[in-house]
Amino acid sequence: DLKPKSLLYLDGVSVSFDGFKALNSLSLVVEPGELRAIIGPNGAGKTTMMDIITGKTRPDEGEVFFNGNVDLTKLDEADIAQLGIGRKFQKPTVFESHTVWDNLELALNRERGVFATLFYTLSAEDRIRIDEILDTVRLTGRRNDLAADLSHGQKQWLEIGMLLAQEPQLLLVDEPVAGMTDAETAETALLLRQIARTRSVVVVEHDMGFIRDLGVKVTCLAEGSVLAEGSIDFVSNDPKVIENYLGR
Ligand code: ADP
Repeated sequence: DLKPKSLLYLDGVSVSFDGFKALNSLSLVVEPGELRAIIGPNGAGKTTMMDIITGKTRPDEGEVFFNGNVDLTKLDEADIAQLGIGRKFQKPTVFESHTVWDNLELALNRERGVFATLFYTLSAEDRIRIDEILDTVRLTGRRNDLAADLSHGQKQWLEIGMLLAQEPQLLLVDEPVAGMTDAETAETALLLRQIARTRSVVVVEHDMGFIRDLGVKVTCLAEGSVLAEGSIDFVSNDPKVIENYLGR
Protein backbone atom coordinates (compact mmCIF):
# COMPACT_ATOMS: atom_id res chain seq x y z
CA ASP A 1 0.00 0.00 0.00
CA LEU A 2 1.56 3.24 -1.19
CA LYS A 3 -0.75 5.58 0.69
CA PRO A 4 0.96 5.68 4.13
CA LYS A 5 4.39 6.58 2.80
CA SER A 6 3.44 8.93 -0.02
CA LEU A 7 3.34 12.69 0.26
CA LEU A 8 0.56 12.95 -2.29
CA TYR A 9 -1.80 10.10 -3.10
CA LEU A 10 -4.59 10.33 -5.66
CA ASP A 11 -6.57 7.24 -6.51
CA GLY A 12 -9.56 6.82 -8.81
CA VAL A 13 -10.21 10.57 -8.93
CA SER A 14 -13.02 11.59 -11.26
CA VAL A 15 -14.72 14.90 -11.78
CA SER A 16 -17.23 16.04 -14.39
CA PHE A 17 -18.24 19.49 -15.54
CA ASP A 18 -21.69 19.52 -17.14
CA GLY A 19 -21.42 15.82 -17.95
CA PHE A 20 -17.89 16.15 -19.40
CA LYS A 21 -15.38 13.99 -17.55
CA ALA A 22 -12.35 16.25 -16.99
CA LEU A 23 -10.74 13.60 -14.76
CA ASN A 24 -11.52 9.95 -15.29
CA SER A 25 -10.24 7.69 -12.50
CA LEU A 26 -6.90 9.50 -12.21
CA SER A 27 -4.24 8.03 -9.95
CA LEU A 28 -0.98 9.71 -8.98
CA VAL A 29 1.51 8.98 -6.19
CA VAL A 30 4.27 11.45 -5.32
CA GLU A 31 6.93 10.47 -2.79
CA PRO A 32 8.39 12.82 -0.18
CA GLY A 33 11.26 14.74 -1.81
CA GLU A 34 10.23 13.77 -5.32
CA LEU A 35 10.24 16.07 -8.34
CA ARG A 36 7.58 14.90 -10.81
CA ALA A 37 6.90 16.21 -14.29
CA ILE A 38 3.39 16.17 -15.75
CA ILE A 39 2.83 16.40 -19.49
CA GLY A 40 -0.15 15.92 -21.76
CA PRO A 41 -2.24 17.64 -24.43
CA ASN A 42 -4.49 20.63 -23.77
CA GLY A 43 -7.66 19.48 -22.07
CA ALA A 44 -5.94 16.40 -20.57
CA GLY A 45 -6.95 17.46 -17.06
CA LYS A 46 -3.63 18.80 -15.76
CA THR A 47 -5.11 22.02 -14.38
CA THR A 48 -8.11 20.18 -12.98
CA MET A 49 -5.75 17.80 -11.17
CA MET A 50 -3.95 20.77 -9.57
CA ASP A 51 -7.36 22.25 -8.66
CA ILE A 52 -8.32 18.98 -6.94
CA ILE A 53 -5.05 18.90 -4.95
CA THR A 54 -5.42 22.50 -3.78
CA GLY A 55 -9.09 22.11 -2.91
CA LYS A 56 -10.33 24.53 -5.57
CA THR A 57 -12.34 21.71 -7.14
CA ARG A 58 -13.95 18.78 -5.32
CA PRO A 59 -13.73 15.32 -6.88
CA ASP A 60 -16.98 13.46 -7.58
CA GLU A 61 -15.18 10.22 -6.75
CA GLY A 62 -11.81 9.04 -5.53
CA GLU A 63 -9.27 9.54 -2.79
CA VAL A 64 -6.87 12.47 -2.33
CA PHE A 65 -4.47 12.14 0.60
CA PHE A 66 -1.54 14.28 1.75
CA ASN A 67 1.21 13.05 4.05
CA GLY A 68 -0.32 9.59 4.21
CA ASN A 69 -3.49 10.24 6.15
CA VAL A 70 -4.70 13.81 5.59
CA ASP A 71 -7.86 13.64 3.46
CA LEU A 72 -7.68 16.72 1.22
CA THR A 73 -11.23 16.22 -0.04
CA LYS A 74 -12.46 17.22 3.43
CA LEU A 75 -10.50 20.49 3.59
CA ASP A 76 -11.01 23.88 1.99
CA GLU A 77 -8.43 25.81 -0.03
CA ALA A 78 -7.13 27.92 2.86
CA ASP A 79 -6.60 24.87 5.10
CA ILE A 80 -4.78 23.03 2.32
CA ALA A 81 -2.47 26.01 1.72
CA GLN A 82 -1.82 26.11 5.47
CA LEU A 83 -0.88 22.42 5.44
CA GLY A 84 2.04 23.28 3.19
CA ILE A 85 0.85 22.97 -0.40
CA GLY A 86 1.94 25.96 -2.52
CA ARG A 87 0.88 26.61 -6.08
CA LYS A 88 2.50 28.73 -8.72
CA PHE A 89 0.25 29.69 -11.58
CA GLN A 90 1.61 30.27 -15.06
CA LYS A 91 1.51 34.06 -14.95
CA PRO A 92 3.84 35.60 -12.34
CA THR A 93 2.04 37.75 -9.77
CA VAL A 94 4.84 39.69 -8.12
CA PHE A 95 4.47 43.21 -6.72
CA GLU A 96 6.05 45.14 -9.59
CA SER A 97 6.51 48.42 -7.70
CA HIS A 98 8.39 46.76 -4.82
CA THR A 99 11.98 45.57 -4.76
CA VAL A 100 12.88 41.91 -5.02
CA TRP A 101 13.79 41.90 -1.31
CA ASP A 102 10.52 43.55 -0.31
CA ASN A 103 8.54 41.01 -2.34
CA LEU A 104 10.17 38.22 -0.34
CA GLU A 105 9.64 40.10 2.91
CA LEU A 106 5.96 40.56 2.05
CA ALA A 107 5.67 36.83 1.29
CA LEU A 108 7.32 35.90 4.59
CA ASN A 109 5.02 38.19 6.53
CA ARG A 110 1.94 37.13 4.58
CA GLU A 111 2.68 33.60 5.74
CA ARG A 112 2.45 34.87 9.31
CA GLY A 113 -0.76 36.76 8.63
CA VAL A 114 0.98 40.06 9.18
CA PHE A 115 -0.68 42.43 6.77
CA ALA A 116 1.03 45.56 8.09
CA THR A 117 3.89 43.83 6.26
CA LEU A 118 6.70 46.31 5.70
CA PHE A 119 6.25 47.91 9.12
CA TYR A 120 6.95 44.60 10.76
CA THR A 121 10.61 44.27 11.77
CA LEU A 122 12.45 41.30 10.39
CA SER A 123 14.43 39.13 12.76
CA ALA A 124 18.02 38.12 11.99
CA GLU A 125 16.72 34.63 11.12
CA ASP A 126 14.23 36.13 8.66
CA ARG A 127 17.06 38.01 6.93
CA ILE A 128 19.12 34.85 6.68
CA ARG A 129 16.08 33.03 5.28
CA ILE A 130 15.50 35.73 2.65
CA ASP A 131 19.21 35.65 1.73
CA GLU A 132 18.96 31.87 1.27
CA ILE A 133 15.89 32.20 -0.91
CA LEU A 134 17.55 34.94 -3.01
CA ASP A 135 20.47 32.59 -3.55
CA THR A 136 18.19 29.66 -4.48
CA VAL A 137 16.20 31.67 -7.01
CA ARG A 138 19.30 33.29 -8.57
CA LEU A 139 18.36 36.83 -7.55
CA THR A 140 20.98 37.83 -4.97
CA GLY A 141 22.42 40.44 -7.34
CA ARG A 142 18.93 41.87 -8.04
CA ARG A 143 17.77 42.16 -4.42
CA ASN A 144 17.46 45.96 -4.48
CA ASP A 145 15.94 46.20 -7.95
CA LEU A 146 12.25 46.71 -8.57
CA ALA A 147 10.43 43.54 -9.57
CA ALA A 148 9.18 45.48 -12.60
CA ASP A 149 12.77 45.64 -13.89
CA LEU A 150 13.30 41.87 -13.85
CA SER A 151 13.09 39.73 -16.98
CA HIS A 152 10.03 37.52 -17.38
CA GLY A 153 12.08 34.50 -16.26
CA GLN A 154 13.41 36.30 -13.20
CA LYS A 155 9.86 37.25 -12.22
CA GLN A 156 8.94 33.56 -12.36
CA TRP A 157 11.89 32.77 -10.10
CA LEU A 158 10.92 35.56 -7.72
CA GLU A 159 7.43 34.13 -7.45
CA ILE A 160 8.87 30.69 -6.75
CA GLY A 161 10.96 32.38 -4.02
CA MET A 162 7.82 33.96 -2.57
CA LEU A 163 6.25 30.50 -2.36
CA LEU A 164 9.40 29.12 -0.71
CA ALA A 165 9.01 31.77 2.00
CA GLN A 166 5.92 29.81 3.01
CA GLU A 167 8.01 26.62 3.41
CA PRO A 168 5.67 24.36 1.43
CA GLN A 169 6.14 20.59 1.66
CA LEU A 170 4.67 20.31 -1.80
CA LEU A 171 5.05 22.90 -4.54
CA LEU A 172 2.83 22.75 -7.63
CA VAL A 173 4.26 24.67 -10.58
CA ASP A 174 2.29 25.39 -13.74
CA GLU A 175 4.26 25.90 -16.97
CA PRO A 176 7.20 27.77 -15.41
CA VAL A 177 9.35 28.04 -18.54
CA ALA A 178 6.72 29.34 -20.99
CA GLY A 179 8.18 32.57 -22.40
CA MET A 180 11.62 32.06 -20.88
CA THR A 181 14.89 32.33 -22.80
CA ASP A 182 16.80 29.07 -23.39
CA ALA A 183 19.32 30.02 -20.70
CA GLU A 184 16.55 30.77 -18.18
CA THR A 185 14.82 27.49 -19.05
CA ALA A 186 18.00 25.49 -18.41
CA GLU A 187 18.56 27.36 -15.14
CA THR A 188 14.96 26.67 -14.08
CA ALA A 189 15.55 22.92 -14.41
CA LEU A 190 18.54 23.22 -12.05
CA LEU A 191 16.57 25.48 -9.70
CA LEU A 192 13.62 23.07 -9.40
CA ARG A 193 15.95 20.13 -8.81
CA GLN A 194 17.63 22.12 -6.05
CA ILE A 195 14.28 23.02 -4.46
CA ALA A 196 13.17 19.38 -4.58
CA ARG A 197 16.04 18.37 -2.30
CA THR A 198 14.00 19.64 0.64
CA ARG A 199 10.40 19.23 -0.54
CA SER A 200 8.32 17.63 -3.28
CA VAL A 201 7.61 19.46 -6.52
CA VAL A 202 5.03 18.69 -9.22
CA VAL A 203 5.66 20.61 -12.41
CA VAL A 204 3.36 20.80 -15.44
CA GLU A 205 5.21 21.71 -18.64
CA HIS A 206 4.98 21.37 -22.41
CA ASP A 207 8.65 22.09 -23.09
CA MET A 208 10.10 18.62 -23.74
CA GLY A 209 13.71 19.84 -23.70
CA PHE A 210 13.10 21.19 -20.22
CA ILE A 211 11.40 17.94 -19.13
CA ARG A 212 14.41 16.02 -20.42
CA ASP A 213 16.75 18.36 -18.47
CA LEU A 214 14.79 17.68 -15.28
CA GLY A 215 15.69 14.01 -15.62
CA VAL A 216 12.84 12.81 -13.41
CA LYS A 217 9.83 10.51 -13.61
CA VAL A 218 7.22 11.81 -16.05
CA THR A 219 3.46 11.29 -15.98
CA CYS A 220 1.57 11.85 -19.23
CA LEU A 221 -2.13 12.56 -18.84
CA ALA A 222 -4.76 12.36 -21.56
CA GLU A 223 -8.54 12.51 -21.33
CA GLY A 224 -8.42 12.77 -17.56
CA SER A 225 -6.29 9.77 -16.71
CA VAL A 226 -2.70 8.52 -16.83
CA LEU A 227 -1.64 7.49 -20.32
CA ALA A 228 1.94 6.55 -19.44
CA GLU A 229 4.36 7.02 -16.56
CA GLY A 230 8.11 6.49 -16.22
CA SER A 231 11.38 7.90 -17.50
CA ILE A 232 11.24 10.49 -20.27
CA ASP A 233 12.62 7.92 -22.73
CA PHE A 234 10.00 5.37 -21.73
CA VAL A 235 7.13 7.84 -21.88
CA SER A 236 8.20 9.60 -25.09
CA ASN A 237 8.50 6.25 -26.91
CA ASP A 238 5.07 5.04 -25.83
CA PRO A 239 2.88 4.77 -28.95
CA LYS A 240 -0.15 6.13 -27.05
CA VAL A 241 1.84 9.19 -25.95
CA ILE A 242 3.08 9.76 -29.49
CA GLU A 243 -0.44 9.45 -30.89
CA ASN A 244 -2.18 11.61 -28.26
CA TYR A 245 0.47 14.20 -27.53
CA LEU A 246 3.95 14.26 -29.03
CA GLY A 247 2.89 13.42 -32.59
CA ARG A 248 0.30 16.18 -32.77
P1 ADP B 1 -5.27 20.91 -19.14
O1 ADP B 1 -4.81 21.73 -17.99
O2 ADP B 1 -4.58 19.59 -19.23
O3 ADP B 1 -5.22 21.65 -20.44
P2 ADP B 1 -7.88 21.18 -17.93
O4 ADP B 1 -7.80 20.51 -16.61
O5 ADP B 1 -7.77 22.66 -17.97
O6 ADP B 1 -6.81 20.51 -18.91
O7 ADP B 1 -9.24 20.82 -18.62
C1 ADP B 1 -9.77 19.50 -18.78
C2 ADP B 1 -11.12 19.62 -19.42
O8 ADP B 1 -12.06 20.04 -18.45
C3 ADP B 1 -11.17 20.63 -20.54
O9 ADP B 1 -11.94 20.08 -21.59
C4 ADP B 1 -11.84 21.83 -19.92
O10 ADP B 1 -12.58 22.54 -20.88
C5 ADP B 1 -12.74 21.21 -18.87
N1 ADP B 1 -12.89 22.07 -17.69
C6 ADP B 1 -11.93 22.37 -16.80
N2 ADP B 1 -12.40 23.16 -15.82
C7 ADP B 1 -13.72 23.37 -16.09
C8 ADP B 1 -14.78 24.08 -15.45
N3 ADP B 1 -14.57 24.75 -14.30
N4 ADP B 1 -15.98 24.07 -16.04
C9 ADP B 1 -16.19 23.39 -17.17
N5 ADP B 1 -15.26 22.69 -17.82
C10 ADP B 1 -14.02 22.67 -17.29
